[in-house]
Amino acid sequence: MQRLAVLGATGSIGTNTLDVLSRHQHHYQVTILAAYSNVAKMLELCLVHKPKYAVLLAAGAAKQLSEQLPSALNCEIIDSLDGLCQLMASDSYDTVMSAIVGAAGLLPTMAAVKQGKKVLLANKESLVMSGELFMQQAQQSGSIILPVDSEHNAIFQCLPDQIKDNLGHCDLSSAGVERILLTGSGGPFLNHDISALSQVTPEQACKHPNWSMGRKISVDSATMMNKGLEYIEAKWLFNASAEQIQVVIHPQSVIHSMVQYKDGSTVAQLGQPDMRTPIAHCLAHPQRIEAGVEPLDFFRVGQLSFVEPNYQRYPGLKMAIDACHQGQSYTTALNAANEEAVAAFLDKKIGFTDIYKANAEVLNFMQHQPLDCLDAILEWDKQARRIAQGIIKRMH
Ligand code: NAD
Ligand code: MG
Repeated sequence: MQRLAVLGATGSIGTNTLDVLSRHQHHYQVTILAAYSNVAKMLELCLVHKPKYAVLLAAGAAKQLSEQLPSALNCEIIDSLDGLCQLMASDSYDTVMSAIVGAAGLLPTMAAVKQGKKVLLANKESLVMSGELFMQQAQQSGSIILPVDSEHNAIFQCLPDQIKDNLGHCDLSSAGVERILLTGSGGPFLNHDISALSQVTPEQACKHPNWSMGRKISVDSATMMNKGLEYIEAKWLFNASAEQIQVVIHPQSVIHSMVQYKDGSTVAQLGQPDMRTPIAHCLAHPQRIEAGVEPLDFFRVGQLSFVEPNYQRYPGLKMAIDACHQGQSYTTALNAANEEAVAAFLDKKIGFTDIYKANAEVLNFMQHQPLDCLDAILEWDKQARRIAQGIIKRMH
């Protein structure tokens, strides 16, 4: 019996994870559920999964939950980030699904890594903010990191075992790998008139052609900042250089990413655009379990096409790739600025193209410096947010 903590339990990845887990109740037991503010959903999840701990971090949410949760469930309710981090350092679980959205996921995920837990990593922001430190900690503690993000999961599946067993510190070249092809759909504005992008609405931006996801990552897919964050994520997970990662637009989202080898082979992972597949893969690795996802029917897949990204359409992608090679302070600042800018866009305070303008201004404004510990990273994140908020205020 594997004991699981699901962080971000009420979100898109959390819901898909619990769906897969409920198909394999004899093998997995959910002992911790954590989320932000959705009391009704958390109550429902507690009644079904009967965890030992339920965590809600928004002010007042835990109290509301405790008033509604039947005491017979014997579920301890936690209301603070400190409390959640302590739980992550405890013996109450074996494996954590890290699926809190954004920078808020960093501390609890890091606490699990330090403790040497198995970490199924959906929260890509952890790696964007602190990739080097994160992978170092994992090596020191013996924590196993498995990538949930569909592209990184696909890449993982296409790589040889010697790489899989040494994520973060592997040598792609000596394993015969030429490059990683990181695919992305191009989002809802792949064919939109570039000069009209400043006018698009949050509703249009959140309408992803293939995937159903949370709102923040949906906007990031429309700007392709998501692919930029994934580029950074791939660099840290697979210890890849600039020459070893290439972004390829593949509008149908049938191929989830590929690996090219020195002998001319390209290995790809294909499947439905359904996160339950990579989630089930991580849960069972190195075995395979049912995910509730139908395999592809190749007679119905239709044509697969591939396009080179146009950085005029997706300036945020270029910005993230550049930041990746400039250093940790750039990617941490970009991640923070982008979270603020996307939230402002979703609130209709700024336009769609203002997102990358705000991000660029923040990156230019900051006096970059090496960030060598978690405290420095968190302080830098805060500073970038303050600057971003000032810039956003001037924009609307
Ligand atoms: P979502 O918005 O649907 O869910 C976010 C979850 O995080 C919710 O449970 C919410 O309660 C919780 N949360 C938010 N702020 C919090 C805080 N301050 N403290 C504690 N909990 C908090 O997001 P999602 O789409 O499920 O994405 C989750 C993560 O997975 C993100 O890092 C995203 O980049 C990554 N991811 C998602 C997908 C996808 O298909 N949805 C694919 C790949 C990677
Ligand atoms: Mg992805």
